[in-house]
Amino acid sequence: MPSKPSHKTANKAPSPVKKPAAPSVEDLLRQLSNAVGVSGDEGAVRRLILEAIQGSVDDVNVDAMGNVLAVKKGTGRGERLLAAAHMDEVGFMITAVDSDGSLRFEIVGGIDERGLLGKQVVVGPKRLPGIIGAMPVHLVPADQRSIVIRVARMRIDIGAESEATAKKLVKPGDRAGFATEFAVAGPSFRGKALDDRLGCAALVELLRGPAYSFDLHAAFTVQEEVGLRGAKVAAFAADPQAAFVLDCTPANDLPHSDEEKENTQYNTRLGLGPAIYVADRATISDQRLIAHLQRTAEAAGLPYQLRQPGGGGTDAGAIHLSREGVPSVSLSVPGRYLHSPLSLARVDDWRHAIALMRAAFKAWTPAVLKRKG
Ligand SMILES: [Zn+2]
Repeated sequence: MPSKPSHKTANKAPSPVKKPAAPSVEDLLRQLSNAVGVSGDEGAVRRLILEAIQGSVDDVNVDAMGNVLAVKKGTGRGERLLAAAHMDEVGFMITAVDSDGSLRFEIVGGIDERGLLGKQVVVGPKRLPGIIGAMPVHLVPADQRSIVIRVARMRIDIGAESEATAKKLVKPGDRAGFATEFAVAGPSFRGKALDDRLGCAALVELLRGPAYSFDLHAAFTVQEEVGLRGAKVAAFAADPQAAFVLDCTPANDLPHSDEEKENTQYNTRLGLGPAIYVADRATISDQRLIAHLQRTAEAAGLPYQLRQPGGGGTDAGAIHLSREGVPSVSLSVPGRYLHSPLSLARVDDWRHAIALMRAAFKAWTPAVLKRKG
């Protein structure tokens, strides 16, 4: 990621990822995507982030819930802006070990159980490889092939031959995540948990480089996927004058069907730039912050799109209601197939999200929050 994308590079066709000598933000993204950090067990992701921000921040601490709260001091008089990205991902929690050594589990966060059979997972802190077992298709009676198998009937099989063996390896409460290797495929990233490791890596990058005019409080939050829980206390601690949330939003821009001329159901579309939120189910974005992002993008020649209002939510849902209220807006990289074993996002949408946030921070003045009426 070039730290200062210019007008010239901003609108170019997708280009291959460049690797500078120092550990690059792309390398960090790869590590973050491959790490498993299911809600409430974000340690593997937290360790990577703590290491990555060393030397770029003036203060860092891990709070009682596990949020990473870092401060990059500004050159001004102590105005505080919060930028947040969530560390956790959707996944599974082991609930019991069966007598045959297979593992019962529950879903953590929002996952469509119709897509789970036959998927590979890694279980527990030792990352034991496992599979969500499925009956071979040869044996499934024809009249049962259209029936949805509920997650309560599924098991994760780690190859243990008995309950005793499995219990030595796994305990109830251990998390499991999808076993997907991150890759760059042409203009796209492929990987699990791009929601929201794209935001985490972007926030790390925004902490690098020279100071801004304000103190940047960065919150890498826990438990977003189960109800914006970490962000609630992170926002209280930071007590900011405004907040930006960096996330990854479902694109739903799949190819249109034979009956439709075009897909009109999209939420965002890949390749059109980062998506500025106007409203979602949890938040109505602050109009002054929307305008600041739009003005900044237009001045810098950076692409952006407005996310269609409607469902979903980000950490902004908790942050904007903190204390006496915090003007908030979300900026997301569009991603396809979120909350599934493999998501897909465009490299350039992510680069442009970082470039837009950096430019918006550089152009920030307290006047952004002046109300006209
Ligand atoms: Zn997210």
